Amino acid sequence: MSDERPPVDLGRLADLSVKELKGVGDKKAKGLAKAEIDTLLDLVTHYPRKYLDRTKEARIAELMEGEEASVLVTVDTTSARRVRGGKSMVTSTVSDGSGSLKITFFNQPWRERQLTAGRQAMIYGKVGLYRGQRQMVSPVIDLVGDKTGRIIPVYPQSEKSGLHSWDIAEWVAETLRRTLPPTGRGLADPLPPYLLDEHDFITRDAAFCGIHQPESMAEVSEARRRLVFDELFRLQVALVLRKRAIERTAVGLRHIVDGPLLNSFTGQLPFALTGAQQKAIGEISADLVRQIPMHRLLQGDVGAGKTLVAVATMLAAVDSGHQAAMMAPTEVLAEQHYSSIRELLSGLSVEDTTSLFADRPLRIELLSNRVGTADRKRILSGLITGDVDIAIGTHALIQENVMFSSLGVVVVDEQHRFGVEQRAALRDRSYGDASPDVLVMTATPIPRTAAMTVYGDLDVSVLDELPPGRTPIKTMWVRAPGRLDQTGTSIDSADGELPLDLAGLEQMWDDVRSEISEGRQVYVVCPLIDESEKIEVASAESTFDWLRSSELDGLRVGLLHGRVSPAEKDETMEMFRTGHLDVLVATTVIEVGVDVPNATVMVILDADRFGIAQLHQLRGRVGRGSHASTCWLVGAAVTPESEARLQALVDSTDGFELAEIDLDLRGEGTIMGERQKGRNDLKLASLRRDREAVAAARRAAIQLVDADPGLETVPELSRELELFLNPEDAEFLLKG
Ligand code: ADP
Ligand code: MG
Repeated sequence: MSDERPPVDLGRLADLSVKELKGVGDKKAKGLAKAEIDTLLDLVTHYPRKYLDRTKEARIAELMEGEEASVLVTVDTTSARRVRGGKSMVTSTVSDGSGSLKITFFNQPWRERQLTAGRQAMIYGKVGLYRGQRQMVSPVIDLVGDKTGRIIPVYPQSEKSGLHSWDIAEWVAETLRRTLPPTGRGLADPLPPYLLDEHDFITRDAAFCGIHQPESMAEVSEARRRLVFDELFRLQVALVLRKRAIERTAVGLRHIVDGPLLNSFTGQLPFALTGAQQKAIGEISADLVRQIPMHRLLQGDVGAGKTLVAVATMLAAVDSGHQAAMMAPTEVLAEQHYSSIRELLSGLSVEDTTSLFADRPLRIELLSNRVGTADRKRILSGLITGDVDIAIGTHALIQENVMFSSLGVVVVDEQHRFGVEQRAALRDRSYGDASPDVLVMTATPIPRTAAMTVYGDLDVSVLDELPPGRTPIKTMWVRAPGRLDQTGTSIDSADGELPLDLAGLEQMWDDVRSEISEGRQVYVVCPLIDESEKIEVASAESTFDWLRSSELDGLRVGLLHGRVSPAEKDETMEMFRTGHLDVLVATTVIEVGVDVPNATVMVILDADRFGIAQLHQLRGRVGRGSHASTCWLVGAAVTPESEARLQALVDSTDGFELAEIDLDLRGEGTIMGERQKGRNDLKLASLRRDREAVAAARRAAIQLVDADPGLETVPELSRELELFLNPEDAEFLLKG
């Protein structure tokens, strides 16, 4: 019987409580609520965690001792008892018609309640033999209920909520029966037909059916492909709408990009720009001349030459009669930017508007908390009058008491500590009416598809080419525990089992000493201690003592860690910078903000404790001069993942490639972070597995939004965005 009424959209399912279902009373509804399933929409988007393919299952009679297998069984009996030491032991006998099997659990008393007689379960484990009887100890159990299909969905279930996979399957089935044809009205499809065609997608109806009640694994994968796209497309449409909305409402400045200052700056550079720098500057210039404020992310490895691109961007502001600001996350970095940018721009002058035919030197100031009161006053007044052309500093730059005469460009170094709110606050810091152009720089590259999602409302430029003449850093991995005493014994007794490549260690310290005898300098990074700063400091001190009395005996060694006073830290850094120290032993405080071209060796102890990005950043502290550099990783890979991490560092010096590997190893959780909180309805899609779908969804979203900014041709999609986005976003994007 076909239904003449129009199909329903997902919003309808969101209006219906799970209590509408047969068999869901208050108690079950409570359990569902614990799993955040309140509505029928929550239920049908509660996707199976995995599928049991019954065509692949074994029969008990065929199981061989020592083999791992999954079998579908019925529970015959279960009993619990206490064994020696007060432990509980639950034993079940299960069978499948071909034979029977004993399964045993220790200290999981709740198994007695789970494995009641008559229940069906899929069990997976290693087959053993005990007194002639086949058995499995602590197998993985999936309760599946009385199922006859070939492919059985297994839903995420928790013992505490009292929900069973087969209950969920039952409720999902009822929901689908009432929603999908032939018994229901069917689901509206939010995708425009041309997209369905282009990607050869199955319908929404078929997709929900295929993900929950598949006939084959091929059906699951088609269903997944469709639903993953739907999730990613919603997200991308929202991001692109947001981007376009900002562009529409914000009034920016039309900068001049071929002014005298910028031209004399590029003209006086002692080297040619890299292709990547030219491309990035081209992309930025195209933004600067438009009246729409720029929001652009500049990604580039350490040493790729981002500073230069930033300076060119700031000079365009000054050429256009405005000011520029550069914000760094720490005082040290701000100071470093200040001194290197001053040097880059020395000798440049700007037209003096107060006197005819006269020029005055370009004025660059540093505003940080270390600036004294008198200087601060002078700088603040220069910002207000417009006499200061470029201000470099920390967050102090956008605090309330700071006002610019006319802020044209803002460069933010390291986006991690700079949020959307601060971007918005910038406009208030300027007497000018227009929003400044914003360039965000990061030296922690993230993969392209991840950037599209995490920074979907920014444009992205990439410096994927290092300036010529760099000698690549050679990376060596010595398989040994990170902390050894003079005799070469591991300090952590637990490390006793780990490999110990003594020859490798010897070669490493030989390399360190020989570089020093050639006049070079060395960093030694101490083991990373998570427990507390106090322990980390102690560990750094003991590493320092150990090295000074053994491998680095007689050399000039300095120590830096989190508890060294700022004055002492400055002094140590200065000594290292000026070559009065051969070796700097340090915790990760040297990760950012140190630039000593004469340092050519980086030793990282206990390297397996660091993440890929951090190791890459640390390694970037060497290889900054004309001498060949080496990075030594000392670490015993204790897991396949740490093995893969360290090997990746040995194999590649390309930050983007490493970022891809990192994403593969760790998943997207680490990348999504703060920015995505609250507006992430990615239940099926994975930025890692579904890279191509991310890119396809982005393209499709741009195409759609640019053709139909009000989403008038796709009302179902528009309603769906409202449904899935958080309320403020929906308000902003769809009604505004
Ligand atoms: P990043 O900020 O990306 O880590 P920097 O801007 O600090 O890199 O540049 C690193 C070094 O490379 C600096 O000493 C800079 O002067 C130099 N450099 C930048 N661009 C070029 C280029 N096109 N050719 C040669 N050297 C360059
Ligand atoms: Mg830099």
